[in-house]
Amino acid sequence: MTILLSAVIFTPDTIYQDHGIVFDKTIIKIAPNDELRAQYGNACEELGEGSVLMSGLINPHVHLEFSANRTTLTYGEFMPWLSSVISNRDELINSCDNECMQHATHAMLNNGITAFGAVSSYGFDLEACAKAPQKVVYFNELIGSDPLMADALYKDFQERLFASQEMKREGFYPSIAIHSPYSVHRILIKKALKYAKDNILRVSSHFMESPAERQWLDDNSGDFRPFFQNFLKQSQAANTAEEFLQLFNDVPTLFTHAVHANEKELSTLSQKGHTIIHCPISNRLLGNGVLDIERLNTQKIRWVCGTDGRSSNYTLDLFEEMKISLFIHPNQPLLPLAKQLWRSVTVDAAKALRLNCGSIAPDYDADLLVLRIDYPLTDQLSIHLITQPHTIESIYIQGEKIQ
Ligand SMILES: [Zn+2]
Repeated sequence: MTILLSAVIFTPDTIYQDHGIVFDKTIIKIAPNDELRAQYGNACEELGEGSVLMSGLINPHVHLEFSANRTTLTYGEFMPWLSSVISNRDELINSCDNECMQHATHAMLNNGITAFGAVSSYGFDLEACAKAPQKVVYFNELIGSDPLMADALYKDFQERLFASQEMKREGFYPSIAIHSPYSVHRILIKKALKYAKDNILRVSSHFMESPAERQWLDDNSGDFRPFFQNFLKQSQAANTAEEFLQLFNDVPTLFTHAVHANEKELSTLSQKGHTIIHCPISNRLLGNGVLDIERLNTQKIRWVCGTDGRSSNYTLDLFEEMKISLFIHPNQPLLPLAKQLWRSVTVDAAKALRLNCGSIAPDYDADLLVLRIDYPLTDQLSIHLITQPHTIESIYIQGEKIQ
């Protein structure tokens, strides 16, 4: 059992001054420091002035297999970026070995990320994810819009999925990702989602990331048209957005981006209890615009903040992601947005990924960070924790001190 007494326990909605946490694998109780000193005496660990105890952060969307990218890919617009991914894919994938991917999982840990959702295109990141100290929701990605290739692609997907299901370790959750509405045939989607439903697996998908995707799914036009004609000899989108979303009606899913989702699609996402993953840095670098979080809040859609992969980000850091989000939505009231961002990387992400962490309350997993700050405490701590520098001194996952 560990008893940490801190200057502040930070949660998105409540700031507890001079409080501590008692935990083993899960949180046992939260109480004022004086009370804990009286009860536990020398067993208490005093964290002292400027200490902040908070939940470990949850990054719902990352592509570890692309962690070798620094400046290889073309930023600014979606189609040139996609073309640069296709022409550099082999080199990027081959130059990211286990060590490179482990480096990425450690970088996330150093940034306070104690759980993440990894979208795996090839299964090359399985070992790095299995060895990572964090909780990992491992999304085996299904891709393939050509019906002639459907069986072979599904078989490949299944093999990766089954391999991940062989990986038995606590905190590792084999899951399913559908790449996107434009890249996966509906027969494959139906098959994969039936499997997900029967086996209660978590599901994620990219959705409405770019203007090109919007145009292509709406009327088979736009920048995707020459792309699909040249690469895949297709002149029609694999799905309309509406048909695509309907397939997910009884499988609550994390949809990444949704920057170009329309009102009707958002209403479907809301009604069916789906979650949107907000990746502001990725969206900016690929020229995809800004997610309208006000519309999401009006429609009561849960949204969470994620980093995406190094293919469309310069870092895997949710503090940085929250900071960019805070500045990219200038019309949102500052403090409520900061609080919502904190919920999005803790309690809301945990709910969306069905993880027993992200909350400082009894019976939740003790996935905790100890931060050190050097500024006076105010009731605007949610903002300061995003904008001011801090040090992450210790990290606990399921009560075990990882660093
Ligand atoms: Zn992605």
